[in-house]
Amino acid sequence: MPEYSPLTAAVRARIAEIPCLRLIDDPEKLEDFSRDGTPGLSHRPEIAVEATEAAAVQALLRLANERRFPVTPRGLGSGLAGGALPVRGGVVLSLARMNRIIAIEPRNMIAVVEPGVVNLDLKNAVAAQGLFYPPDPASLDTCSLGGNAATNAGGPACVKYGTTRDYILGLEAVLPNGELLAAGVQTRKGVVGYDLTRLIVGSEGTLGVITRLILRLIPRPAAVTTLVALFPRLVPAMEAVTKILLNGHTPSALEFLDRRCLELVGDLLPFPGVREAGAMLLIEADGDPERIQREIEQIGEICLDGGAADVLLAPDAQRRSRMWAVRKEVTQRIEERYPLDVHEDVVVPLGRIAELVACLPEYEAAHGMVVYSFGHAGDGNIHLNITADSPAAAPRVEAGVRQIVEKVLAMGGTMSGEHGVGIAKQRFLPLELSPESIRLQGEIKRLFDPNGILNPGKVFR
Ligand SMILES: Cc1cc2nc3c(=O)[nH]c(=O)nc-3n(C[C@H](O)[C@H](O)[C@H](O)COP(=O)(O)OP(=O)(O)OC[C@H]3O[C@@H](n4cnc5c(N)ncnc54)[C@H](O)[C@@H]3O)c2cc1C
Repeated sequence: MPEYSPLTAAVRARIAEIPCLRLIDDPEKLEDFSRDGTPGLSHRPEIAVEATEAAAVQALLRLANERRFPVTPRGLGSGLAGGALPVRGGVVLSLARMNRIIAIEPRNMIAVVEPGVVNLDLKNAVAAQGLFYPPDPASLDTCSLGGNAATNAGGPACVKYGTTRDYILGLEAVLPNGELLAAGVQTRKGVVGYDLTRLIVGSEGTLGVITRLILRLIPRPAAVTTLVALFPRLVPAMEAVTKILLNGHTPSALEFLDRRCLELVGDLLPFPGVREAGAMLLIEADGDPERIQREIEQIGEICLDGGAADVLLAPDAQRRSRMWAVRKEVTQRIEERYPLDVHEDVVVPLGRIAELVACLPEYEAAHGMVVYSFGHAGDGNIHLNITADSPAAAPRVEAGVRQIVEKVLAMGGTMSGEHGVGIAKQRFLPLELSPESIRLQGEIKRLFDPNGILNPGKVFR
């Protein structure tokens, strides 16, 4: 493990001299950089800095190599795996102020942005020009495009449009040694050399600091329509999901909430019968208005054939936005209610979603925990909030979490579809990756960052 030096007054003075880098050492302000969106995790940096130019990031990383201190990149700190927390101390490098939309080129259908641009701000800016940037993490108004790239974020739209990685044509990143790397293309295609763009995307800030992104845009869908289906039980709801997809439908969202979630937030949903339901599917289709109307009706029929007690077609715009707000409220209410709350975001093959959720009651009973499940049924990405009434239950909940992860992997799934490894999931990494894969990935990290100064202690221990 690399040895790091504490930030002496002399090193702090050199950092303070770097142009376009604001140094923050006020203890109260440093508190804000000690946490991200992950419940229960906190690590305090020695200082934080806010960069406004890539050259400042380069100067900082050169100095970090010379004086051997760790640097942890941070977007807007909404991550759910502790990735932006400075576990080895040193400097937190905030990219939040590098937040310019440099260009939107409608004819080329691309946008060029700095990493601190908020996801929703780009969506709104391109929508004004008839274009669409699909990646839509539920945190879209509080997360940065740089953070989205570093975690390869996804959201409800993934089922139709794919993840962030599918929209990054190229990027600029400061390598740990301070060099500025331009990777990828501005074109729709490009196969020259190894795909360093796709390597850096999803590397959780361990291989480089992203300072610019070239993003692929698509035409804005003409219309969107929504359907809500209420099922008496979760398993038939998940079976309906598989049938919808097998029948050739590509909804632009295919989300679910289980009974426990409906009990928790059902009071906020503007439909009768919600709190008594065993599961709810929230389905959207977008595109040509006539086509999506037909499509959503056919999807409704599949739900009714699959045992839905009720389907509600095309709620008005107000109720539609209310539904999405409620879907986001689930996590907040769970966190308020339970002192112990472990977030997992497992993914299973599409045909096995029902099988996974059918196992959950058994695991709950065996480990004395309460599991809330919801999320992106359409791509098999199931968010599990695994909770207990007391922090003292942590050891038995940990055993339950491990059992669920093992089950997911045995089903051919993966332990994380969105949140990444960070520090929150490191302990399970050897369950999913082979020793050969871990060794090779360790060598890639050492090649990029021989002194281990960039986001140390993340992903791989
Ligand atoms: C309520 C809520 C809902 C969420 N819903 C979703 C969801 O639907 N889908 C989803 O995928 N995630 C979701 N998340 C998790 C989180 O919002 C995403 O991981 C998001 O991409 C993080 O962006 P950020 O700017 O907050 O990054 P941060 O939390 O600041 O950082 C995340 C990681 O990226 C690295 N990083 C950040 N910026 C850079 C950069 N410029 N260069 C290199 N590395 C960088 C950090 O080092 C860290 O490892 C949710 C979080 C919350 C709190």
